[in-house]
Formats: sequence, C-alpha cells, structure tokens
Amino acid sequence: MAVIIDGKKVAAQVKAELKEKIEFLKIKYNKVPGLVTILVGNNPASLSYVNSKVKACREIGINSVFEKFDAAITQDELLSIIKKYNNDENFHGILVQLPLPEHLKEDVVIESINPLKDVDGFHPYNVGNLVIGKDTLYPCTPYGILELLFRYSINPSGKHVVVVGRSNIVGKPIANMLLQKKDGANAVVTICHSAAKDLTIYTKQADILIAAIGKPLFIKEDMVKEGAVVIDVGINRIEDNTTEKGYRIVGDVDFENVVNKASFITPVPGGVGLMTVAMLLKNTITAFEKIESLKN
Ligand code: NAP
Repeated sequence: MAVIIDGKKVAAQVKAELKEKIEFLKIKYNKVPGLVTILVGNNPASLSYVNSKVKACREIGINSVFEKFDAAITQDELLSIIKKYNNDENFHGILVQLPLPEHLKEDVVIESINPLKDVDGFHPYNVGNLVIGKDTLYPCTPYGILELLFRYSINPSGKHVVVVGRSNIVGKPIANMLLQKKDGANAVVTICHSAAKDLTIYTKQADILIAAIGKPLFIKEDMVKEGAVVIDVGINRIEDNTTEKGYRIVGDVDFENVVNKASFITPVPGGVGLMTVAMLLKNTITAFEKIESLKN
C-alpha cells in the first residue's frame, strides 16, 4: 500500500515555520505583511475559500483584510479598488477570488494588480518569470505540490512526470515548474488534455502522475504504473446520501482503486487542497520581503 501524503500535517508545518518568520520580520521591519482578499458576489464556494484564507492569515500574524462587493460592481470600480491597494504600503498581497461575474474581465483585473503583490501568481509578468525559470510569485496550488514532493523527499529530477490537465492555474504552471533545471524540479514532463486519444498510454508511463482534470474518480488503477507517485489535485462533489449534506468530496483519482498500486498518493480531502492556502501565506511573506527590501 502507498504512503499517504499528509497535506494537513505538511500545511501545518509550513504555517508554523511562516509564523516564526513573521515574528522575525516584525522585528526587522517594524511591520507585518498585509493581504487583502477581494470577493465579488455571493458564490458560496468562493466565500468558503476566502474565509479559510482570511482565517489562516490571522493564525500566523498576517494582517488580513477581506473586501466583499456586490456582484453588480463595475469593472472600473473594481479596478480603482485594486489601484488603491497597489498604492497602499500596508498591503503586500492582493488576491481577487476567481471566478468573477461574467461582466468583469478576469484578464484585465489580474493585469491591474501590481505584479509584486500578485500573490496568486496569475499576472502574466509572474507567469513569464515562472516559464523562464526566474524566482517569482508562483501559483499556490502547483507551489503546494512541489512543497509536498520536497517534504516527502520525492525528487522529481530525471523522473517522467505526466500532468493530466492544461489549465492556467494548475496544469500549465506545475508542468513548467517541474521542467526547470533547478533543485526540486528537473523532470521530464508530458502534458495531456482532453484531445489525447488514449490517455492511458501516457499516464502508464508516469513515475509521477499529476491529475488536474476536474472529473471525479477518473484515474483508475489500470492507468497507473506500479510504484508511481500519484498527486490528485481534483476537488469534486459527488452525490452521497449516506452523508448529512447529501454529497462528499472526491478527487480526480479513484483513491481506493489506486492506493495499492502507487508508492505515494495524496488523498482528497487532506492532500493538495490544504497546501494551496499555506502557499498563499508563503507568497504573501515573499512579496513583503521583496517590496520592503526594494525600499532600502
Ligand atoms: P480546468 O480548467 O477545467 O481544466 C481541466 C483540464 O483537464 C483541461 O485541460 C482539460 O482538457 C483536461 N481534461 C478534461 N477531461 C479530460 C480527459 N477526459 N482526458 C484528458 N484531459 C482531460 O480545471 P482546473 O482549474 O485545472 O482544476 C482541475 C481540478 O483541480 C478541479 O477538480 C478543481 O476543482 C481542482 N482544483 C483544486 C485546487 C486545490 O487547491 N487543490 C486548485 C485548483 C483546482 P482541455 O484543456 O482539452 O479542455
């Protein structure tokens, strides 16, 4: 049976280390990092994500402000709020929770954030830096995957990583991060997507298989090589009348089916998802240090 990668434990370790770092930074700069989280509308999933981010910030000593706006806010109004925080020296991170209502242009909104404060790592400036291998603000979910691999001493160097999914927030960035000629990366990377004619041909070759598909329990045992490391990014709701809520959360990997074939596997929940918030905190501190150091 595979080693089950404990995202809860690693996220708690990362947060404890960051809390200590903030104590040190407080003494060095006489101030603490600040993060503003902006939510537009009333999407319950988004609200729950934002609440967990705000709570995590407060736990480790980041000054966290939550700005919630009506879904009818105009693009110009939203841009002027971002501009205000771009110019506010007390805030080092700006996070606009996605998705936005349809009348707001996500790309324009993301590009309006000062790249130095782009703690989601979605601004084209940071994406470009990621691709060319410069240190930057990395998208939080892929960054969390690298951290999990590192903490479990899984060295991707020379390994064949197969990423299923090519979204801008998970598939493309994790593939590019693992491709870099750097410690903790240096993998041979294949990216798959829905046009793959026979996905199993690719997934079966993976030493490290990363599933970011958005389809519940999609990856089965016959798609996985014996002894592979399996990282499940998926967060999917499926109907389950045995639970109080009538549903449960599962990943893109059929965990029970795959757990005996893999060498390491992330569970859902309790795997990658918990790392995303931890890495947002890390990015906020990285942004703080960069911005404050540029002042001297
Ligand atoms: P997305 O934007 O919908 O992208 C899904 C990708 O999977 C697409 O590239 C799609 O291919 C590919 N795909 C779909 N069906 C496929 C198939 N049959 N064979 C091969 N590829 C297929 O999703 P996402 O935003 O990357 O998210 C993926 C999953 O991760 C979701 O469950 C999401 O909820 C979860 N997620 C979790 C976290 C976290 O914190 N843990 C963060 C973000 C997302 P095409 O490009 O060809 O359409």
